[in-house]
Amino acid sequence: MSNAQTGKKKLPLAMQIFIALLLAIVVGLLMQSHASFANEYIKPFGTIFLNLVKFIVGPIVLFSIMAGVISMRDIRKVGKIGGMTVVYYFLTTAVATAIGLLVANVFKGGFPALSTESLSYEAAAGSKPMDVLVNIFPNNFLMPITESNMLQVIVMALLIGFAIILLGEKADKAIEGVNRWNDIFMKCMEMILKLSPVGVFCLLCPVVATNGAMVIGSLAKVLLAAYMAYLLHAIIVYSATVRTMGGMSPLRFFKGMLPAIMFAFSSASSVGTLPINLECTGKLGADKEVASFVLPLGATINMDGTAIYQGVCAIFIASCYGIQLTGSQMLTIVLTATLASVGTAGVPGAGMVMLAMVLASVGLPIDGIALVAGVDRIFDMGRTTLNITGDASCAICVSNILRRGKKQ
Ligand code: ASP
Repeated sequence: MSNAQTGKKKLPLAMQIFIALLLAIVVGLLMQSHASFANEYIKPFGTIFLNLVKFIVGPIVLFSIMAGVISMRDIRKVGKIGGMTVVYYFLTTAVATAIGLLVANVFKGGFPALSTESLSYEAAAGSKPMDVLVNIFPNNFLMPITESNMLQVIVMALLIGFAIILLGEKADKAIEGVNRWNDIFMKCMEMILKLSPVGVFCLLCPVVATNGAMVIGSLAKVLLAAYMAYLLHAIIVYSATVRTMGGMSPLRFFKGMLPAIMFAFSSASSVGTLPINLECTGKLGADKEVASFVLPLGATINMDGTAIYQGVCAIFIASCYGIQLTGSQMLTIVLTATLASVGTAGVPGAGMVMLAMVLASVGLPIDGIALVAGVDRIFDMGRTTLNITGDASCAICVSNILRRGKKQ
């Protein structure tokens, strides 16, 4: 990526992605009457790109977390950084859900009353809160990778990483091996990312062609509520944390994050955005050893945008069914949306599957998901953008806190 970004004649990759994004919107709008053509012949190339990203995600998370853990050479240090990171992630996600609920309640009067008759949605199995906990622990060495279960991959990476640290000198060759494999998979990701302008165009164009008219239609207010909450969360929460804990001007932070933000918006995949996020936070001054641990972890468990989306959709679905949610039900939503977002994989569409768990926790009909499923991709682009920005803010904050600690 760095070659592409610093190449003299070539446009920087971020610029290429931005142009692809604009082109996709324009071409998508022009193709609204040919949406099926876009879906049949353009979307597959986007799917190929996404498949490649999904293919590389498992090894990237496994080796980058292992390399991150090993580079700290001290389990207590991993524990300290891990502790700070997890607290930051949980608190910001809970605040995100609360903001989502607040904004949705303000907008509620204007939400369309869509008909709920004849709705049906098949919820995926295993969407109970305790299942999320149990499913974190792998019962097989290969399955976490073959099933792309990222939480399990993280557990594997931590266990192996700790074992390597504990073995000390005896594991020197393993350390070298992990670092080289990490370089190799990062290089693979770099190669795949070179295709991202084409991927972004082919993914986004059919979405715009299919949903263009619908956005201005009945769900516009719900989408607006979600995007307002995404924006509020970024402006209020991340600006505050980056300034106070990260010691950085929010403007500099958001500016430095632009390439990753654009990539996340168009790809709707947190994990796919990981390499660009590593690069952006690195340029912003995050420590490499911190970022290479905090960011893959965040791409898997920290989903503020997804939590907001789940809160907003819960209120919208309740209002369509004429159900008034009580204060304690709202609190339950904050808790379950925080948990559900942890269990959400960093790939497109995953947040909608986990919405079932949030709805079920307060007795809302799961069939209601069908009301928002048609425009999920549009929700997804915004929530993914917020998800990765949250991860980056954490990397900046933890790096700065550790630096301050060292100076004292
Ligand atoms: N697409 C989101 C992400 O990758 C997850 C979601 O669907 O909410 O972060």
